[in-house]
Amino acid sequence: MVTAAALIVAAGRGSRAGRAGLSPKQYALLAGRPVLAHAIAAFQAVPTIQRIAIVIHPDDADLYADCARMAPDRLLPPVIGGATRQDSVRLGLEALSADAPEHVLIHDAARPFVAAETIQGVLDALRDHEGALAAQPVADTLKRAHGDGTVAETPPRDGLWQAQTPQGFRFSPILAAHTRAAAEGRHDFTDDAALAEWTGLRVALVASPRKNFKITTQEDLAMAEDLLRSAQPVLETRTGTGFDVHAFCEGDHVWVGGVRIPHDKGLSAHSDGDAPLHALTDALLGAIGDGDIGQHFPPTDPKWKGAASHLFLADAAQRVAARGGRIVNVDLTILCEAPRIGPHRDAIRNRVAEILGLDVARVSVKATTTERLGFTGRGEGLAAMASATVVVPA
Ligand code: MG
Repeated sequence: MVTAAALIVAAGRGSRAGRAGLSPKQYALLAGRPVLAHAIAAFQAVPTIQRIAIVIHPDDADLYADCARMAPDRLLPPVIGGATRQDSVRLGLEALSADAPEHVLIHDAARPFVAAETIQGVLDALRDHEGALAAQPVADTLKRAHGDGTVAETPPRDGLWQAQTPQGFRFSPILAAHTRAAAEGRHDFTDDAALAEWTGLRVALVASPRKNFKITTQEDLAMAEDLLRSAQPVLETRTGTGFDVHAFCEGDHVWVGGVRIPHDKGLSAHSDGDAPLHALTDALLGAIGDGDIGQHFPPTDPKWKGAASHLFLADAAQRVAARGGRIVNVDLTILCEAPRIGPHRDAIRNRVAEILGLDVARVSVKATTTERLGFTGRGEGLAAMASATVVVPA
């Protein structure tokens, strides 16, 4: 397979934002995530991109670190950019040359809406061309203006395209072009395709949707927010509850919330008897109206004999995800006289968070006795109740 890397240029200052003391546009929040994080995610969605390098401004190291934490997949360490975009791209290419890919796609961080089809289309065009860029045919009539804002002429728009990014190249020729331009003191190229053309490379145009626009102004940012909002499904909040009991039997340990606790009894069950995880599983299934644990994992099925209950809980979480949903929080209450849950509470909380792929702050674990009343009070068994809140597309 041809090796391909993405080089996302995020080193720009954006003089307007800079003057106002604001963070540069590539770090402005769009639906709660920096613009750059959206751009990175777009390339991470394309499996034929094996490495992703980001060129950043030295002042933005902390802003970038937050971005990288949100989506670390295939990211190389950041490269510090230069005085101009052209310098930044060259520095990025030089960093990539340590383990040079065959193809490189250079992209503006401020284009968060680049489609996977566009990225792959540019890559595909590199089979037959030394370079290729995403672009859009000019649809509006163009005017050239005098200095006073009156029309000087109407140039024909036939064959005119607006250049976007990504702009893809075979790696060695584009690095050579950048090296030569720097050596000859040429810093006036407004995109990488122009530089490639200057060295005589043949560059193909790949039609790309208008949606792949560059965010440069506050108005662009507002338009981007509107686009994302209109594309997002309306979510609704759902809550489910679960309850489960297992009786004590002979044994030397119990499973409670995915944690093995030494005890002078065991829990009687077809599976490992982890009532808290069973209650949580039912709470999640309840929230999405998808039956109960017994329906998905019948105790009559020998396949589940002695099964580790984290499998049931992970399956329920998977069912939430399959509906396009997300778990907001879960809350678990364990009822028993013994064993004492307190010393294991953090371990249980961490384990449940791990099974559900949730931040631990979204998981609550509580324990109580029943004041020696009832079957739990008499030490006959362990009970658990749980609730789960999820958001799913309405
Ligand atoms: Mg059970």
